Amino acid sequence: MHTRTCADRRAKIGTPHWHRLNQLRTKPLLGLIDTHSALWSHPHHALYREADVLRTRAEAALQPLPNNALEEPQRALIRLNSLISKLAKSDVASLMAREWDAYRLGKLVGRPHLTFQIPALVEEWGDASWRYYVKLDRQHATMLLQCRTSYIGLRFHLFGRAAREDITSPSCECGTGDHTIKHLLLDCPNLAPQRLALQSQVGHLDFSFLLTRDAKAFTTWAIDHFGLDHFKTAAEAATK
Ligand SMILES: [Zn+2]
Repeated sequence: MHTRTCADRRAKIGTPHWHRLNQLRTKPLLGLIDTHSALWSHPHHALYREADVLRTRAEAALQPLPNNALEEPQRALIRLNSLISKLAKSDVASLMAREWDAYRLGKLVGRPHLTFQIPALVEEWGDASWRYYVKLDRQHATMLLQCRTSYIGLRFHLFGRAAREDITSPSCECGTGDHTIKHLLLDCPNLAPQRLALQSQVGHLDFSFLLTRDAKAFTTWAIDHFGLDHFKTAAEAATK
């Protein structure tokens, strides 16, 4: 948002409105020793410094027309503003990718096993994960988000965060493993028949596919069998 705002500011530089604003800002500064420096120290005007850098980059990258053909100033300005917008979008994508990588690597340092517990951390920055939710209603989308991020009310996750005093163990009631998404989906003996039904429905029990391509079938199964009361209540309310 910051970079996009910067691009929008850049597009305004040089317009009559921008000149008028400068006049208004300079007026109370007239008579000062260094009016120019005082203007640029104005909090509103200072925001344009970064926009100016963006313009300089765009001007340097702007290709001349073929055969150095002459171009109307207005058309040149349109091309320049288009390039500024493109650079700003590219800057945003790079910045978000770097921040996402720093976040997920920070989470995984010394804990590589979390890649399985937190599937969202496996994927690089982009809009791919958004598509997993497009065809889901709110209830299923919420379940998918909780499964992909592991911010879910299963005992293993609640116990690890000391989220509730009544959760005194991370283990599943079956006694064979931790109460995790993976355990319920792949290993818990208490859900063996339900697991077979899901497998025959989608043709596999691949964790990565269930949390992406086959998210609708998986989240329906999870809502029915994870035993999370708030999802049960929501499902009951939806059928009334
Ligand atoms: Zn179990």
